[in-house]
Amino acid sequence: MTELVNCLIIGAGPAGYTAAIYAARANLKPVLYTGIEPGGQLMTTTDVENYPGYPDAITGPKMMDDFQKQAERVGTDVRFGVVTKVDFSGNIHKLWIDEETEIHAKTVIIATGAKAKWLGLPSEQHLNGSGVSACAVCDGFLFKGKEVAIVGAGDTACEEALYLSNLCPTVHMIVRRSEMRASKIMQDRVIAKENIIVYWNSETEEVVGENKVEAVRVKNKETNETKDIKVEGFFVAIGHKPNSDIFKDWLDLDEAGYIITQSGSTKTKVPGVFAAGDVQDKIYRQAVTSAGTGCMAALDAERYLAEFAH
Ligand code: NDP
Repeated sequence: MTELVNCLIIGAGPAGYTAAIYAARANLKPVLYTGIEPGGQLMTTTDVENYPGYPDAITGPKMMDDFQKQAERVGTDVRFGVVTKVDFSGNIHKLWIDEETEIHAKTVIIATGAKAKWLGLPSEQHLNGSGVSACAVCDGFLFKGKEVAIVGAGDTACEEALYLSNLCPTVHMIVRRSEMRASKIMQDRVIAKENIIVYWNSETEEVVGENKVEAVRVKNKETNETKDIKVEGFFVAIGHKPNSDIFKDWLDLDEAGYIITQSGSTKTKVPGVFAAGDVQDKIYRQAVTSAGTGCMAALDAERYLAEFAH
């Protein structure tokens, strides 16, 4: 017989585990499927210094391990498996794990997160975590007083460049075209900031360094001139891809693929299906904001089930 669960949570990052902690304590007996990368983006983060409650900082993987233990201690059934297909056409939602096992759920909390986009350079991959980062708000502090570079020209890149400019003597911003995609106000702030140098029409050829970032090799596409800019940190801010492909036939997604939720809640357009964390947030994208929306999703699911019972 097909298993029926009250609350099925997809994803094992801060949003998924927090939803699990709240749902378990509300006696919803949640089942959480971890997905292919349990822990999500925090598994590639070194020290997390901005999550309240860890005064001495904590590594991303240790923090996720703690979240999992806490979720299990209060009664979450954590299972390793990937949700590969969903059918949200009925009152009871159908999901398939690893393309074979069918499971039914009264409520579903989607917390599948997002992936940072990378340039795709071998040197960028090699030095990831050793000076290369896709999150200035997470890792910028480690580069306080040091020269850094950032690639990208959207709102995220501008916001992160401005953030870094308050910590670092110079921020070298590499923009591939002669204009930025970011909103005018963000561009104006970047241009007005004295310690941000913009390299227009420029391409990152390589991140230079053996075991840590020492420079970034940049080519000006107009002049074909290549130069090494000495930096200790290299930030990639060229966008994120939310992990929402399997939901696209059932839920409303925005043009970048983020799940659209009702303002002030985690409700999607399907009753009983909620979304939390980075899969529905392109603006804040922090562990603590993900955890916050995970909590909201569990409370929304609990209320929905109470109404469902009647
Ligand atoms: P975007 O997709 O808006 O921008 C990505 C940027 O990266 C573009 O400038 C793009 O260049 C550049 N890029 C992409 N690939 C490469 C590459 N291979 N090499 C060099 N550059 C590359 O992503 P964002 O994360 O900036 O923003 C996503 C969404 O979130 C947007 O809608 C944004 O407005 C929103 N946002 C809003 C914020 C706010 O309101 N405070 C804060 C942050 C984000 P090109 O332009 O040439 O394609």
